[in-house]
Amino acid sequence: MTHIVCSYCGTTNRIPDGRDLASGNCGKCGRPLFDGHPVDVSAVVLEKHIAKSDIPVLVDVWAPWCGPCKVMGPQFEAAAKEAEPGLRFVKLNSDENQALSTRLGIRGIPTMIMFNGGKEVARVSGAMSRTDILKWARAQY
Ligand SMILES: [Zn+2]
Repeated sequence: MTHIVCSYCGTTNRIPDGRDLASGNCGKCGRPLFDGHPVDVSAVVLEKHIAKSDIPVLVDVWAPWCGPCKVMGPQFEAAAKEAEPGLRFVKLNSDENQALSTRLGIRGIPTMIMFNGGKEVARVSGAMSRTDILKWARAQY
C-alpha cells in the first residue's frame, strides 16, 4: 500500500501494491495522480503532500516576477516527466503563499526543497537544468 496525495484536491489515495502508480487517477476528483505537469499547489495541499505522501516531495518555490524561475520552470517540468512517479514534483508560488514561504525560511527564489518522511531533507537555490535537477534530487533519497 502506497499513500499518494493528489496535487489537485489534496486527497490521500491508497494505492494497493502492484498497481501502476503512474496510471492511477485520484479517487475523489478523478484527475491523474501523475501527469508530468508539476501542479502549483496551495499551502494546504503542500502540507498534505509533506505529511501524508509515501514518496519524496520536491517543491519548486517560485514567483511570476522572477526571471530565473521562468527559465527553470520548463526544466523542472521536464525533470518531473522523467522522475515521476518515484518522486512528486510540485510548485509553490511564494507570492500567493507568503506565510508558508516565511515559515519555510525562503530567502531567494527559485529554491527547491526536498521533503521525505514528513520533513525537509535538502534544499538548493538558483535555477538549474533538467539534468542537474535530477542529479541533485536523486542524491537526496
Ligand atoms: Zn484529487
